[in-house]
Amino acid sequence: MALIVQKFGGTSVKSPENRKAVLNHILRAKEKGYDVVVVVSAMGRLGDPYATDTLIDLLKAQGSKVCPKNQDLIMSCGEIISAVALAATLNKKGISSRALTGPQAGFNTDGYYSEAEVLDCQPLRVEEALQNNEVPIIAGFQGADACGEINTLGRGGSDTTAVILGAALMAEKVEIFTDVSGIMTADPRIVEEARVIQQITYGEVCQMAYEGARVIHPRAIEVAMRNNVAVVVRNLDASGPGTLITGESALKEGNYSTRGRRAVTGIAHSTELAQFIITFEKPDPDREIKIFERIGKAGINIDLISVFPLLKAFIVKEEHSIKVEKILKDLGVLYQLEKGCAKVSIVGVGMHSIPGVMARVVKVLNEKKVEIIQTGDSNITISLLIKQGDLRCAVKTLHDNFHLGN
Ligand code: ADP
Ligand code: MG
Repeated sequence: MALIVQKFGGTSVKSPENRKAVLNHILRAKEKGYDVVVVVSAMGRLGDPYATDTLIDLLKAQGSKVCPKNQDLIMSCGEIISAVALAATLNKKGISSRALTGPQAGFNTDGYYSEAEVLDCQPLRVEEALQNNEVPIIAGFQGADACGEINTLGRGGSDTTAVILGAALMAEKVEIFTDVSGIMTADPRIVEEARVIQQITYGEVCQMAYEGARVIHPRAIEVAMRNNVAVVVRNLDASGPGTLITGESALKEGNYSTRGRRAVTGIAHSTELAQFIITFEKPDPDREIKIFERIGKAGINIDLISVFPLLKAFIVKEEHSIKVEKILKDLGVLYQLEKGCAKVSIVGVGMHSIPGVMARVVKVLNEKKVEIIQTGDSNITISLLIKQGDLRCAVKTLHDNFHLGN
């Protein structure tokens, strides 16, 4: 029988009304003859009693230094509570159901607390539940390492749980239910005219997710791409088809011509960034290596890196700027720090075959007096560092100029 994995995010299991909609989606898939495997996130956001952030605050409120092992242990409870509650609801409706934690569902992780990766997944108990005609409900975002310690997978990790199960169980598709109608041309919280993208490639979504579009976890897309799992992002409360995420060859418009193709598919953004510019009086490769090594050892990711013999520029999350400043002061390096930055990234597989995209971006932002502090690009992305205060204007202007709303 064909199998479908349905993932319901925090926004989808938040309230009793939402949970009713969840139940309906599961029932509808069963009526269509699918075997259904469900993955759930914790219920709601900070302030809701069993939300991940509420559980972290509970631990912090105890006053002692928070140890990563205990933080992962308490964080994993949110998804477990959600899974047990949903299984109970289904059982009450006469649909046999079984809740499983990540480790019970066979998720083996690499031991990195709060940002673990899944090494492998052996979903024997999930298969057993399916054979017993039960709907397995799996707590997302978690697994156990070789010592049996609970690890969590980072924000958005339930998306990854769902796609890994989809790959392991050879699902026909993985449906990600959320509070928007699919992957949109920009975050609808910033651009009212943002439109749902019907079909998009793994590469583009991955890039949008890495550049800050939090609608789906980038690692989930990597897994989907490697295993060729079809992923659909849909609205919990609407019946629209949502966004289908597939390989480039499966794109409906993917014939032999690239003419007429869009340059830009979507725009992502991230905020609270800080830019460092380091200047050397003469080239000093030893000190340069030390700078990047020490930042790396501190576990700090850097981005938009530009390296010239006497100048190095990069950005970090603003929360890490104090640590970076300390490293630079220790090494006696001259630097400038610009806080309050945001990054806007335009993404599209069509971009590399269409000349003049950068010129167009610079021109329209200049017209709107948005200062571009730094840029970076790959073959399907152009990223621009700007002042956070210019974010809305920049995203809306680019959205408009590349006709993404129509
Ligand atoms: P869930 O709890 O279902 O996992 P998330 O909050 O993680 O939901 O993701 C959904 C949110 O992602 C939306 O409410 C939207 O504001 C945000 N978002 C950011 N960029 C995009 C985009 N390009 N398309 C759709 N949603 C986006
Ligand atoms: Mg999410």
